[in-house]
Amino acid sequence: MHEFSLACGIVDVVKETVESQPVKRLISVTVEVGQLAMVNPEQLKFSFEVITEGSPFEGAEMIVETIPAVAKCMCGFEGALGDEDYVCPKCGGFYELLSGRDISVKHLEVELEDEG
Ligand SMILES: [Zn+2]
Repeated sequence: MHEFSLACGIVDVVKETVESQPVKRLISVTVEVGQLAMVNPEQLKFSFEVITEGSPFEGAEMIVETIPAVAKCMCGFEGALGDEDYVCPKCGGFYELLSGRDISVKHLEVELEDEG
């Protein structure tokens, strides 16, 4: 499953990020998912839950934010794309995708050891 391997990658990023900090508990992880990344947010959340079960990150909430796809084309078109716009909606040519295909960890909410 596509989402499962993505969730594994996200957990790896979280591990690396919190490694050097006195983190007691991971509260939530916010992930940005591009509109064209072909990711099902519910499956991604479920995979994250399965992977973190029994780990120090168990119980952390995954928040998925969808990033709209924006493209720029030779014909002058520049703007948001619909879900089915695999070519330029104006001229039918190939566009340059400015955003909307990537998946990245945007924010981690953690509880630190030295906090009351
Ligand atoms: Zn075009």
